[in-house]
Amino acid sequence: MPATKFICPNGTRIPIEDCLKFCPQKERCLFLPTLRAIAISVDRGIKEPTVTELISGVRETYLKKTTEYAVVPQSVLYALHGQAVHTIHEGFTQGDILSEIRLKDKITSGKFDLYGKILDEEEGVLGDLKVTSSFKLMKALGIYKVRVATGGIYKTGLKKGQMKYHNELRYDGVKHVLDWGIQLNYYRMLLEKEGFEVQRMFIQAMCRDNNLRIAAERGIDQSVYIIPIKKIGNHWMERYFTKKAALLQSAMQMKKLPPICSSKERWHDRKCLDYCDAGENCPYGQRVRLAKEKQVS
Ligand code: SF4
Ligand code: SF4
Repeated sequence: MPATKFICPNGTRIPIEDCLKFCPQKERCLFLPTLRAIAISVDRGIKEPTVTELISGVRETYLKKTTEYAVVPQSVLYALHGQAVHTIHEGFTQGDILSEIRLKDKITSGKFDLYGKILDEEEGVLGDLKVTSSFKLMKALGIYKVRVATGGIYKTGLKKGQMKYHNELRYDGVKHVLDWGIQLNYYRMLLEKEGFEVQRMFIQAMCRDNNLRIAAERGIDQSVYIIPIKKIGNHWMERYFTKKAALLQSAMQMKKLPPICSSKERWHDRKCLDYCDAGENCPYGQRVRLAKEKQVS
């Protein structure tokens, strides 16, 4: 079931089609064509679980497929940024480059972004376009902060006599690209099943907050990064997707809420708190949100 309602800036909820016909607020929170584009983007009309849906927690995907939920249009706009980046490439993939083709197998379906001679003279390069945050990029590039003593000592105040520290960036951390890796590797497998060999894989990630100070503090000083993605074995990939697809299918057939998403899938609760559209229909998400409200009040 796609999102059926928008959440207005004042917190009221309105069926999406009512909003598109008439805004009962003093003025629209976004231009009407933007809202129409958002309405289309939240209902892609794909019944079977897609690669990206299977990478999310099974509970999240189950709830988004079976319950009505509301979205904040401004938040969905970020997803539209991604689509806009795809649109930029339309008409420029002539020759031996394939783009945006949905491929299917018996488990799932997925639409890759670009395949062919996209980086250099090598054929068979698979590319995916992302618009993401400096936080996610920092993690993906293996950048992290360490606290380093400056050698100075506080002379006054509460910290008098204590050592002074500052943060320094390091660039040799673990590259947190597993979700992107799983997604691209499944597209690779789908392409290979159709007879298209994939030599290398890359993400072209555009940072949506790269001109903010926080991005610089995270070591993100470019607006776009090309990030190589390693091959993950087909056996592991097949097991991962088969298991998640089976869990989802069984939950759908039995109309039974699947177990709580794993800690990684729910971003250690950050997703439940602020970013999960299924959160209002998820008992765990509700608990996390209530606990946060209590902490704040
Ligand atoms: S345009 Fe914005 S404020 Fe108006 S009804 Fe739609 S979501 Fe609410
Ligand atoms: S609120 Fe958390 S546990 Fe519930 S579906 Fe969303 S991510 Fe999963």
